[in-house]
Amino acid sequence: MQAEGGRIADRAALTASKTRSAVDEIIARTEASARRGRRLEVLTVDNDADAVYVALRIAREKPERLGVALSLLLRNGGNASGVGIGCIGPTGEVYPDAFSRMVTFGNVRERPFGAIWEDLRHPVMAGLKRRPRLLHGRCASCPALPLCNGNLRARAASSTGDFWCPDPACYLSDRELAEAAELLQRFGRRPEDSSTDHRKG
Ligand code: SF4
Repeated sequence: MQAEGGRIADRAALTASKTRSAVDEIIARTEASARRGRRLEVLTVDNDADAVYVALRIAREKPERLGVALSLLLRNGGNASGVGIGCIGPTGEVYPDAFSRMVTFGNVRERPFGAIWEDLRHPVMAGLKRRPRLLHGRCASCPALPLCNGNLRARAASSTGDFWCPDPACYLSDRELAEAAELLQRFGRRPEDSSTDHRKG
């Protein structure tokens, strides 16, 4: 739990330029590994804005791969807390994900997991499952929602106390979000179409 909290704080504390450099380094190492014939599957975890950044880089550097990349990123659909990802703590408490321990939906010792998970009477569960997701501020009006889905709510909540406020670890500029909007429009997706498969988990 402490390690998870630390990991969230570490990502929030990084400046936008350091986050970008870190993601660039991960991309460079992954590409180098692929050139050596070793295909890696990389999970950056807890900053879904990375999907937008990766899409923009592919659009600039490998436009011929953009269609495939966007279709995979859209299928992934960004943050899946409370939808395709959940967490059951050691005492049976059900959380939206491993980081969001400030919200519990119930306890599997009292109700089956399925009943807890589908119960939209809990306002946070209803807000997470809504499409577009219940969000405030910059995330609510973000044109890249189909790729990011509002990023990590646990970090937003731990920085401001508001579970639905913008994620402070978003490192994308307004200009980049506008570029992402243009890409998505080209592929026929709008923020209000941000329903996703969320098959990861
Ligand atoms: S503004 Fe919010 S929804 Fe948009 S990319 Fe940044 S974190 Fe994601």
